[in-house]
Amino acid sequence: MNVELINQKFFEKFATKGELFTSPGRINLIGEHTDYNGGFVFPGAIDKGMAAEIKLNGTEKVRAYSVDLDDYAEFGLEEADAPKASWARYIFGVCREIQKRGGKIAGFDTAFAGDVPLGAGMSSSAALESTFANALNDLFDLGIDRFELARIGQSTEHNYCGVKCGIMDQFASVFGKAGHLMRLDCRSMEFEYFPFDPEKHGYKVVLLDSVVKHELVGSPYNDRRASCERVAAKLGQEFLRGATMAQLDAIKSEISEEDYKRARYVIGEEQRVLDVCEALKRDDYETVGKRMYETHWGMSKDYEVSCEELDFLATVAEECGVSGSRIMGGGFGGCTINLVKAERYDDFIATAKKRFAEKYGHEPKVYQVVISDGARRL
Ligand code: ADP
Ligand code: MG
Repeated sequence: MNVELINQKFFEKFATKGELFTSPGRINLIGEHTDYNGGFVFPGAIDKGMAAEIKLNGTEKVRAYSVDLDDYAEFGLEEADAPKASWARYIFGVCREIQKRGGKIAGFDTAFAGDVPLGAGMSSSAALESTFANALNDLFDLGIDRFELARIGQSTEHNYCGVKCGIMDQFASVFGKAGHLMRLDCRSMEFEYFPFDPEKHGYKVVLLDSVVKHELVGSPYNDRRASCERVAAKLGQEFLRGATMAQLDAIKSEISEEDYKRARYVIGEEQRVLDVCEALKRDDYETVGKRMYETHWGMSKDYEVSCEELDFLATVAEECGVSGSRIMGGGFGGCTINLVKAERYDDFIATAKKRFAEKYGHEPKVYQVVISDGARRL
């Protein structure tokens, strides 16, 4: 993040100085397609995020400048004042959601910029929302608790940006802690920090972005959800969370082969998250990596949300001796997240770039990430 550039642009636009706030993007180490099953996710905030300089301007208007897009927007704080530019709607939405919760805010000037790659699965939008939610909470002394700040970001996506997302991204962006991941229980909303400091143990975390997004026929996400709900109902549960493989096997003849495979993935994934947390307590990064591969192939073979390019990247990782590799995110494209020993890193990246380009005509994008702190004042 280029803070000097933000300072410079803010001064150019508003001829004054404001205060700086930042919030990160996130990764999810393991726990995919578990949220809507009442299970666990295991995200961490990263060293890429959004930063905004902000100063109250004594009016009822927000004047916002996006440094990265070189675009400017001005809008009021009433529902009818919604700006057209999609980036500005994130800021407007945060303002509105704060007001809906009784928070008294007023106009401000801001210039902001970020280094979370857009749409690569690291949630640049959550970084943007939590930057402003946290900043406004602080500047107007609203006393909103941190979980509610995350909910304000989520509601912004739902109500102003047309994205029906879960809470993980905003939660991770707000609560992130350097050297730690957070296991969030999507049923109770309780969470726990676990130490995760790969650099200290000779590993790196790197994302390889396939830069493909497959056109989906039908509604594969809804189909997956429906399978999970059918099996949960058969087991007499609200969610698949908490079901065991033995319970699933006992009803195998009563459900379709497809529903069986979907549920097998989800039940397996719940156990894998728990295994990874246990392994991290012993600094056992090799076990963490093994579970990541299991998740990948579970998503590929049982849940069937992978694609050729991501399977290829996971296979190349395995051949390069990478400790763990898997699809990150919902699937059908996007990134793999890789846990790799530092001494294997250069060879892995070079090999993956070369072999992917030979096969698909372009290199994957490479993003090394370090687990970092959540929303804060700079
Ligand atoms: P992601 O998966 O990265 O969250 P989204 O599509 O949810 O992708 O959000 C991306 C949107 O967030 C962009 O289209 C833009 O409106 C806004 N955004 C993200 N980063 C920036 C930025 N650096 N500057 C301006 N707007 C941004
Ligand atoms: Mg997003």
